[in-house]
Amino acid sequence: SSTTQTIRPFELGHVATLPSQATTLQGVLDWHVEQHPDRPQLYVYQDADQITEISYQQLQQRARRIARALQQQEIAPGDCVAIMLPTSEAYFYSFFGILYARAIPVPIYPPARLSQIEDHLIRHAAILNNAQAKLMITVSEAKPLSQLLRLQVPSIHTITTLADLRSSNTPEADIGTPHPDDIAFLQYTSGSTGLPKGVTLTHNNLLANIRAMGRVVQASSDDVFVSWLPVYHDMGLIGAWLGSLYHAIPLVIMSPLLFLSRPQRWLWAIHRHRATLSAAPNFAYELCLNKIDDSELTGLDLSHWRLAWNGAEPVSPATMQRFTERFGPYGFRPQAMSPVYGLAECSVGLTFPALTRHPRVERIKRDPMTRLGRAEAAEPEDPNAIEVVGLGYPLPGHQIRIIDALGRELPDREEGELEFKGPSATQGYYRDPDKTRALYHGNWLTTGDRAFTIGGELFLTGRSKDIIIRAGRNIYPHELEAAVCQLPNIRKGCTAAFASHDRQSGTEKLVILAESRQTAPEQLEPLKLKINTLALDLLGSPADEVVICPPHTIPKTSSGKVRRAACKSLFEENRLSDPQRAVWQQALRL
Ligand code: ATP
Ligand code: MG
Repeated sequence: SSTTQTIRPFELGHVATLPSQATTLQGVLDWHVEQHPDRPQLYVYQDADQITEISYQQLQQRARRIARALQQQEIAPGDCVAIMLPTSEAYFYSFFGILYARAIPVPIYPPARLSQIEDHLIRHAAILNNAQAKLMITVSEAKPLSQLLRLQVPSIHTITTLADLRSSNTPEADIGTPHPDDIAFLQYTSGSTGLPKGVTLTHNNLLANIRAMGRVVQASSDDVFVSWLPVYHDMGLIGAWLGSLYHAIPLVIMSPLLFLSRPQRWLWAIHRHRATLSAAPNFAYELCLNKIDDSELTGLDLSHWRLAWNGAEPVSPATMQRFTERFGPYGFRPQAMSPVYGLAECSVGLTFPALTRHPRVERIKRDPMTRLGRAEAAEPEDPNAIEVVGLGYPLPGHQIRIIDALGRELPDREEGELEFKGPSATQGYYRDPDKTRALYHGNWLTTGDRAFTIGGELFLTGRSKDIIIRAGRNIYPHELEAAVCQLPNIRKGCTAAFASHDRQSGTEKLVILAESRQTAPEQLEPLKLKINTLALDLLGSPADEVVICPPHTIPKTSSGKVRRAACKSLFEENRLSDPQRAVWQQALRL
C-alpha cells in the first residue's frame, strides 16, 4: 500500500512483446509472470487516496491459493462460482482463482446498502439459478443478503468471504490443461429488456476481442488506463481490466461509488496518473458537466488522455460537444472522444471509429427516416433533422450487416436490424437453448438493435423492442428522453418513453415518464405542458400521457440503463407510485 503521491504508473517502462501465443486467460497471466513478475498490473483505490499496487506475480500467487481452497471446497472444473464483490483486491484474486481451478467465474453486482431488496433478489436469484452456481464469494456485509439468495438457489452449497476461504498448503489437484474453447466466464447481459441472459464467452472469444481492440486502438504498455467502471460488466471487466492485463498496460481502478459520489475524482485520477485511456457510458460525461464546479478544476491537465471511449448506451452529440468544449481548456482533445458500440454477445467491443478522428454526427431528414427507415442527409439548416452518431467500423475479423423484416440484407442508408459475426461472438446463452436458437440467424448473430450504415460505418437508432410505432412513424425513445432531460427540473438520465397498449381504443399510446423533485400540482401541470410542447416539436404530436414521478421511480439496470419494458409494466399495473419499490430503487442506484 502507498499513497497516491508516489504512484507513477506511467514510468514503468516499455514492454516490447505480448503473450501472442497464449490461448487462455490464465496462459496470459502466466506469460506475464514469466516475463516481468514484479511489474505492477493494477493500482486499486481503497478509498479516495489510498492505493494498493498488485503485480502480475502477486495476482498469480494469490489466485493460485484461492484455486487450491476452491478445490478443497469440492469445486470441480466446469462448476460455476459466483463473485459478488465490490471493486477491490479480492475481486481480482477471486476471478483468476476460479479460472486456475478451471471453474467458471460468474461476476454479479455487489449488494446495495439495504438487504431486503426484491428487485435485486429476483435478478440475482435468476442469474445464479441459471448458472447453477455452487459457491459464492462475497463480503461479510453481504452475508444476510447472500443467505436470502441461498434460500432461492438450491445449487449453492457454500457462501464465503475471501478471508474465510483458507487453504492448507496442499498442492493443487491435477485438473488437466484448460482448452481455448472452454468457457472462460459467464457475462450476464445488463438486462435492459428483461432478465439478464448468461452469455458464454470462451478463452478464444475473449482473446480474439482483446487482440482486435488492442490492434485498432494501438494499445501498448506505454498507455495508462484509468477506470471506475464496475468490474462485473463487460466494459469494466474485459475492456478495462483484461485488456490492460493482456497489453501490459497499468490499470488504475476505483469503485463506481467513488466516482459517482464525486465525479471529479475520475478526471483527477486521469491527471495524476497521466492516463491515456479511459472509457465510460454517456451518462458519466454528462455527470462531469453537471456535477463539477469550475473551482474544482484548477490545474487539471487532461492532455495525456488520447482515447475517451463512450459506449454501452446511446451517445449524445450534445454531451460530446459540451464535454469537449468545457474540458478543452484543460487539455482534453476533441479527437479523443470516441463513440463505440458493443454488446456482451460479442465479448465487449464490436465497432470502433478510426483513431484520431473527431466524433462524427450525421444529420438525417426526419420524415423519410421515421416513415420509411431511409437515412437521407438533411439540409444543414433543417431544424427537424435527427442527429445520429457514427460508431465506427467492425473490428478486424468481424462483420456487421443490416437486414429487413424478411431477413434480406439492406444497402447503406437503409435502417433495419443489426447483425454481426466474428471470432468474438458467443456460442450462445448458458443453459438456455431457446434463447440461444433465437440469437442465431444462420451463422449471423442478432443484436436486438436497429441501425443503418454509411460507407460501412455503423449508426445505431435504437433497440427493436423499444421502438415506438405511432401513426406509421417510428419514434426513437432515447432521442425524446434526451430532449426531455434538458428541461429544467427534470432529473438527468431519468426519463423513459414507451408505448402502452390502450385496451379501449386498441391502439398504442405514447407515454413519457419523467422524474422530478417537484411534487406540487401547480408545478406539475406547467412541467407536463413543457414536455408535451417538446414532443409536439420533435414528433409533430403530443404524448398521450405524461407522468411526472418522484426521484428513483424509473427502474434501471445495475449499469444504469433505463429498463423501458419494466417501466411499461409498472405503468400498466398502476404501480409507479408503489413506495416500497421506490425504496428498493433508491438503494439499488449505484
Ligand atoms: P439485455 O440484452 O439484457 O436487454 P443489454 O442489451 O443492455 O441488456 P449489454 O450487452 O450489456 O446488455 O449491452 C449491449 C447493448 O447496449 C447493445 O445491444 C445496445 O443496445 C446498447 N449499446 C451499446 N453501445 C451503444 C452505443 N454506442 N449507442 C447506443 N446503444 C449502445
Ligand atoms: Mg442485449
